[in-house]
Parts: sequence; C-alpha cells; structure tokens
Amino acid sequence: MTSLSPRKTGSHGSTDLGDLRRGNLSLVLEAIREHSGLARAEIADRTGLARASVTTLAADLIDVGMVEERAPAQSVTPGRPRVPLFIAPFPFCIVVIEIDIDVVIVEASDLSGTVIVENRALHARATKDPDQVLGLAADLATKIINLLSAAGHRIVEVAIVIGAPIDRGGRVIEFPELEWESMDLAALVASRLATFDGPVAVYNEASMSTLAEARFQRQARSSPVRDLVFLGSRTGISGGAISGGTLLEGSRGLALTPGHIVVRPGGTACRCGRRGCLLAEAGPTAVLSNTGLDQVVTLKGMNFALEQLVVNAQVGHPETMTELRRVGGLLSEVMGQLQAVLDPEIIVLGGYWAQVLPSLEIEAPPHVEVVATPLGERSPRIGALETVVARVIQNPLETARPFVDSNSHNQ
Ligand SMILES: [Zn+2]
Repeated sequence: MTSLSPRKTGSHGSTDLGDLRRGNLSLVLEAIREHSGLARAEIADRTGLARASVTTLAADLIDVGMVEERAPAQSVTPGRPRVPLFIAPFPFCIVVIEIDIDVVIVEASDLSGTVIVENRALHARATKDPDQVLGLAADLATKIINLLSAAGHRIVEVAIVIGAPIDRGGRVIEFPELEWESMDLAALVASRLATFDGPVAVYNEASMSTLAEARFQRQARSSPVRDLVFLGSRTGISGGAISGGTLLEGSRGLALTPGHIVVRPGGTACRCGRRGCLLAEAGPTAVLSNTGLDQVVTLKGMNFALEQLVVNAQVGHPETMTELRRVGGLLSEVMGQLQAVLDPEIIVLGGYWAQVLPSLEIEAPPHVEVVATPLGERSPRIGALETVVARVIQNPLETARPFVDSNSHNQ
C-alpha cells in the first residue's frame, strides 16, 4: 500500500511539494483517461514530466487501484516492451440516478466511463408524490449499490441528475412537471440509501448534457470546443451553453433556458406566465397534440409517444413533416437569437430533435455548425459521470483515502 501523505523529499516535505505531487498525479491520470493505453514514455512526452517521475506517479496510481497495466503488444523492435496503462475498471465506480418525469434510471460506471450495470423503472407520475418517486429511485440504487459492494467495488459518489434548476446550495428550486418545490434532493435521496454513507450530490440535466456533448465534440475533433450550445427536447425543452470553455450556469442554474425564449409574441400561454415561449409553441405537448399523438401520451407516456413521432417522421407521414418543419422554423429563430448573444461555433441538438434533424429543415446561423447528438438519452448521465471523474482526477489520492484509511467505511 502506498503512503497517502505528501511524499517528502530531502528535508523539504512542505505543502507545496504535496500540491506539486497532487498536480502531477492529476496530469498523469488525466493523460491516461484521455488516451487509453499510453506507455509511461508517451505520458512523459505529453505531460512534460520526467520519465522517472511518471514511473513513480504511475506506481502510486496503480497502488490505489485507479490505473492498471496490461500486457504489452508483441514488439517487433528490440528493447524494452512498451507497457500500456489504462484506467482500472475496478474497484472505483460512480452511481448516477436520473429522475425524469416518467422514469427513474440508475446506472453505475467505472472511472473510464464504461457502464457496469443499469436499471430503470417507470414511476407513478400521476401521483407526483416525492416519497414514491424518490423511494423508487432509492430502491433501484440500493439494489445496484449492494450488488457493487458485494463484488468489492468502491463507490465514489451517488450523483443525481434532474431536469430542474438547482441553487448554489444544491437545492432543487422547482420541478414543475411533478409540482416539486424547494427540495434538498440530495439529502432526501441520501436518507433513503441505507447501505451507502458516501457523498450524494445533485446536478442539472441540461448542464450535464452540455458538458457531455462538449467532451464528445472535443474528442471527435481532437481539439477543444470553447463555444458550444446544446438544445434538446424530450419531455420538455432544455439547453445549456459553454462560452469561452466555461459552462454558463447563472445565479439559479437557469442560464440558457431555451424553452422560455419568446418565439411568437402574444402566442400560446406558457406555464411561466408569458405568451409565445418556445416550450408553449413547440414543446412536446404541443407537437404531440398537433400530430394526433396526445392519446398515445395519455395511454403510454410521453417518451413512448415521442418514439412514435420519430417513426412517423421516418416514414414521411405528411402531418408530422409539416409540424416538424414548423418546429424547425422556430428553432432556427432561437438559434439566430442565441448566435447574437453567445456566438457559438457549434449547436448540438439532443432528444428527439436529434432523431428528426433532417425533417426540421433547420436554417443554421452563419458560421455555426448544427449537429445531432451521437450520445442519445445517456448524455445527462455521461455528463454527471464526467463531472465526478473530473474531481477524482484533480485529487486521486483524496478519492482513494476513505477506502484505504478505514475498511469500516466501505459500503
Ligand atoms: Zn415560458
């Protein structure tokens, strides 16, 4: 087992050295996560660290179980074999709970982002009772937590994702679809997780999707994406923006709420009290009603009805095509307004909009690329996972410490 206190060199075992080592561990771990299979020499080249330092730092990360060596590929050249390093799929993992208006999804992933186990269940939206919905979420999560713990996994955090504004203290301000208001969601879920005493935190779905999309685009382009807007529609309309490389959050987590951008002044009444908002004019309720699918919503829920809408678009159903062109026109207008404010290089469409992008006939603003998300419905969960992993990378030994210090704290 490695020492978890800052390594002392000579007589200067100062905090500065601890900070330096932590920073270097973070550099090495980040390099391995961004580029699986790098050898130590390649990590040294990428990070600018000395090869000997990389060897020591990698050994520390292997000791705490965050990194592993795999068998070297057959070398055709003489000399020492090149040993590739990977993020260890075991024991560290993160559990993400997504609370949607129809469904609860619980997913556990390792630090590389690979899903270990997933479970989901429809909740009784009709009752809107937090006890029922959170009870169901906690039951699903507890089953997964117990399964992981029994197998020796170490759960770094339980992250909750919800499509609701969250204040700086982590309270959900409101979740109108279920008529929830001012809730300490993390505490309410934590109190129901009898077999988990680690950190539980809550994250905004739109922000998490935006981060996930930016990460994907960065990897796909092998270059940073500094100005990106995400717009998505599933059971509502959500959005987020990264400006100059920073996620815009706003004072109440409401920065860029595209559903309440007015697209038709004096138009349909919106639940926010104004008229003609994008949500009222082109939200899923309006679109499903205009395409004759409101009965399907009543019988089978909104997600199912949206799947039907996508199928109708794929077969070219005329009423659906007309409606999607209308939605696309309003979306194009919103994109034009967003360009004037945020000047993004790329706008990513998510939710069902991603599946019907050609039928929307979007007129992209000049110099803006409009693309469909390749991440599907997982994007908010990927974003939450990445947010937790980013914290782990900043301070890997601090993440490992509770599990090393005391086995009694293991779940
Ligand atoms: Zn509104």
